Amino acid sequence: MKGLVRVMRERLESVLKRIESAAKRARRDPGEITLVAVSKNFPADAVKEAYSLGLRNFGENRAQELKGKYEELRDLDITWHFIGRIQTNKVKYFVPIADYVHSVWRKEELDEIEKRASKINKVMRVFIEMNISGEESKAGIREDEVHEFLELASGYEHIKVIGLMTMAPFVEDPEEVRWVFRRLREIKDDMSKDFPHLRELSMGMSNDFEVAIEEGATFVRIGTAIFGPRT
Ligand SMILES: *Cc1c(COP(=O)(O)O)cnc(C)c1O
Repeated sequence: MKGLVRVMRERLESVLKRIESAAKRARRDPGEITLVAVSKNFPADAVKEAYSLGLRNFGENRAQELKGKYEELRDLDITWHFIGRIQTNKVKYFVPIADYVHSVWRKEELDEIEKRASKINKVMRVFIEMNISGEESKAGIREDEVHEFLELASGYEHIKVIGLMTMAPFVEDPEEVRWVFRRLREIKDDMSKDFPHLRELSMGMSNDFEVAIEEGATFVRIGTAIFGPRT
């Protein structure tokens, strides 16, 4: 156990240094970047270790796994992020727990989040997920749909759309996907004229977070580089 904490500390220190350097290269304040530690597939104990190293934001991609860890770790001051594909019948599990949802892109998801959030008088902070790369397998709305979708989403009383999210294709060299992050940023800048609450960019994972930060990411979602490979 001790050994594991040491390994995680070293990984985390390296990630934090890389975040800082990437921010400096882009003349940005590293303090404006939130590190979301993606703990999916790792047990609550791993979250506890990461918490002991100072992390406070954690991301999960399955509603029931999130609920389980939340219940085990109730006493800790954690901000939970739901980052996975949304199944409408499971929205009820994450709405009371998560402060942020990163992966909303269909009307029925908005409807269900609104329904569940209104019951507990909560305003859910939401990112709209975009499919920038155009890969068939990817979730998210297309560029030509974004304005209309943002307009739709702004009509819900218990949903506050704070930004856009995307996942870049997995490539060996993250330079190849720089354009994806740049494009998301351009869309956000453009859309924020009509939707001034749109300020955040959730983009960048273990393989590409430095490039994402150089292109303006304000939330990075990092799993492997902190917790190690998932089984
Ligand atoms: C798993 C996951 C991540 C983290 O991936 P790593 O490559 O392990 O950093 C980020 N975002 C989403 C949506 C994920 O599902």
